[in-house]
Order: sequence, then C-alpha cells, then structure tokens
Amino acid sequence: MKYTIIGAGIGGLTTALAFEKKGVEYQLFEKAPKINEVGAGIWLAPNALQVLEYLNVFNRVKSKGNSIDRITLGKADLSPLSDNYQDLVKDTFGYTTIAIHRAELQKILLEEIPQEKIFLGKSFQSFEKLNSGKIKLKFEDNSTSETDFLIGADGIHSKIRKQLFPESKTRYSEQTCWRGVANITLDKEFENRGMELWGNQIRFGISKIAKDKVYWFAVVLDKPNQKDDNDVIKQQLLKMFNSFHPLVHNLIKATPKINILRNDINDLKPLDNWSKGNICLIGDAGHATTPNMGQGGAQAIEDAYYLGNLIGKNPNQNVFELFQKKRQSKVNTIVKQSWTTGKMAHWKYGTNIRNFLLKHMPKKIMERKMMEMYHIEKIH
Ligand SMILES: Cc1cc2nc3c(=O)[nH]c(=O)nc-3n(C[C@H](O)[C@H](O)[C@H](O)COP(=O)(O)OP(=O)(O)OC[C@H]3O[C@@H](n4cnc5c(N)ncnc54)[C@H](O)[C@@H]3O)c2cc1C
Repeated sequence: MKYTIIGAGIGGLTTALAFEKKGVEYQLFEKAPKINEVGAGIWLAPNALQVLEYLNVFNRVKSKGNSIDRITLGKADLSPLSDNYQDLVKDTFGYTTIAIHRAELQKILLEEIPQEKIFLGKSFQSFEKLNSGKIKLKFEDNSTSETDFLIGADGIHSKIRKQLFPESKTRYSEQTCWRGVANITLDKEFENRGMELWGNQIRFGISKIAKDKVYWFAVVLDKPNQKDDNDVIKQQLLKMFNSFHPLVHNLIKATPKINILRNDINDLKPLDNWSKGNICLIGDAGHATTPNMGQGGAQAIEDAYYLGNLIGKNPNQNVFELFQKKRQSKVNTIVKQSWTTGKMAHWKYGTNIRNFLLKHMPKKIMERKMMEMYHIEKIH
C-alpha cells in the first residue's frame, strides 16, 4: 500500500519520519523548490517532544534549542500575572518545552528522511479518484502520480481540503502577528524563560532559541491582509510597544528588518470529518489553531505519531476514521481554548478585570490542564 504525503512542513516531515519507523511505503511532495523555513522560532511543548524522542531526534532538537523552565505571563512592564515554573513537567517527562529556530527543526527532520522519497518543487493541483480505488494526483507542472492513500499536510490553506471539503472555512481572529529573531544576549534571569507580556489589546512574547538568538512575537488587532513598509516597520513596532519593558525595545532594535515576518492569525472552523475514503487531512490542513497555546505544530507532530502507529498496526486497513477518533477531541479542545485565550489577551474592556482573573486563576487547575495537554497515549 502506497501513501502519498503532500506538504513537507512540520506535519508532513514528521509523518514521513513516523512512516520510516514503521516501514510504511510513502512518497512526499512539497511545492517549495527548497526546504528553507525562514524567520522565526517555535516552542515545542512536551507532547511534541515525546514524539520527537520516539522518532530518535529529540537529542538533536535539544542541542539546537533552548529549554524553557519558567513561563511568565506578565503585564507590559514584565511584572508577573502568572508565573509557572516547569518543575512538575520536568519531573514527569524529563524535559520542559524547547524553543528552537524553525529552520533548525526542519533541517533535523529533513536529514532523517531518505532524499529519494522527497520530491521538491512539486505543487499539488488536484486529485481524481480512479475506478481501481487508487487516487490520481495532478501537479502544477502537469505531471501526475498514483497512490493508494493520500495525506494532506499542506497547511491551513490546503488545496486538498478545499477539494475534499469545499464548505470548510478559515476564521480570521482580528489579530495580526509580527515575528522576529534578534541577535542579542539576554540577561541570565531571562535565559530559560518564556515570557508573554499583555498590554492593552496588544502583546509581546519573548524566548531565547539559541546562543545570542532571541525569538519574539508581537500581536495587535488589525484588519486582515495589511502590508508593511519594510523601511519603517521597526519604528512602527517601537511606537506600538513604547509603553512596554525596555527589553522589548532592545529586541526590536536588535532584529534585522529582513528577519521580521508578518502573518494574520487565522484558524480553521473545526471540521466534522478529517477524511473521506482514502484521503485524510493532518496538521493545519485538518485542524489549524490560533497560536495562543503554542500547540499547532505540536498537534501536527502528534498526528504523525498516531497515524504512523495506527497504520503500522493495521497495514492493510484504512485507519483514517480510527485516527480521527483518537485525535479529534483533544485537538478541538485546543482550537477552542486557544481562540478564547486570544480573545482574552486582546480584551476590549480594559485590563483590570482581565489581569485580576489571570492573577487569581487556580494554579492546580491550570497545571492539570497543562499536563492533560502534554499527555501522549503510548500506542507504539
Ligand atoms: C505566529 C505563529 C506562531 C506559532 N507558534 C507556534 C509554537 O510556538 N508552537 C507550535 O507548536 N506551533 C506554533 N504555530 C503553529 C505552527 O506553525 C503550525 O501549526 C504548523 O506549522 C503546522 O504544520 P503543518 O505541517 O500542518 O503545516 P505547514 O507548516 O503550513 O506546512 C505545510 C507545507 O505544505 C506545503 N504546501 C502547501 N500547499 C502545497 C501544495 N499545493 N503542494 C505541495 N506542497 C504544498 C507548504 O509549502 C508547506 O511546506 C504558530 C503559528 C503561527 C502563525
């Protein structure tokens, strides 16, 4: 049985690795001519790390990233609203969240996959179900390929999803986000911390990702599809965040403007089904979430783990419905919670009540929810 994965993002690459581990026959097509994830950092939460450990790449990820041992949600001046030391997480899993440059993560994953199974510069256009039960894939360069099963890992704007479920809808959160990597040495007290500072309908996140490299993100409310003037973007960000802690200003100043990316924040209205027949969606293609819980990539990585193992255990069976059963409830909870967190961060009714609620959120409940999110069922 041959599987075809479309998209070599975090989800597609990790699925390829999971297939390697289980000896599943597959090929992977990616539209970009080169795998070269630019720009920003990513937090890999312990649920993602358990999968990467299972796939034997954890040590490389750890050596290229930075451990986050304390997560602070603070006011604009960095005074904490909630301060979460990750001791329980470390005691349970042996590690905490790792922040890493996306390019490093992609490189590590890519290097583990036999290059003859990856086809770059191949932009998927459409699929056709054949009478034989196979699927015929068409690419933008007019080439074709046949497969038994198709996995859409082609991101939030997935063409496979649009053909499979034309009624599916992305949702704009009314928030836009700039991300950057500053060349700066953080003071020791900030080195192993993930920090998110919430101002009045505006927020800024910070974490070190490697020696003298600090990843930051800045989120504000805006209309969708706005364009930046690159020559003044740093001045504009400095102005927007002028009431924030001086560290924020230093980070913006220490970022080459070429390293500042902007993305509108969208998610996908939860789908009833992630698959139809022998075609299945994973990662952002099937269940994109807003990034407020730092879980979109982690959920794509979890998908790879469950899918690889279900196929490994049932090699002659279509496991896509089983896969959805295992995953959908957790994913939908994250999508919902992340959306609500984003709304709370940019609350329109002033910061006092919001900050009071955050400060008095019962620690035990938050900890329990976090540990549930980090849990992975051992199915291998
Ligand atoms: C601002 C921001 C911050 C985030 N921070 C975090 C975080 O800290 N932690 C976390 O876990 N997640 C985070 N995420 C979410 C995370 O980036 C995504 O969930 C993750 O990248 C999804 O992986 P994916 O492989 O499903 O899709 P993608 O990463 O989008 O990959 C899709 C791939 O498919 C390819 N493709 C698309 N169309 C075609 C086609 N027609 N033919 C062939 N190939 C195609 C693309 O080129 C791409 O390589 C964040 C997201 C945003 C926007």
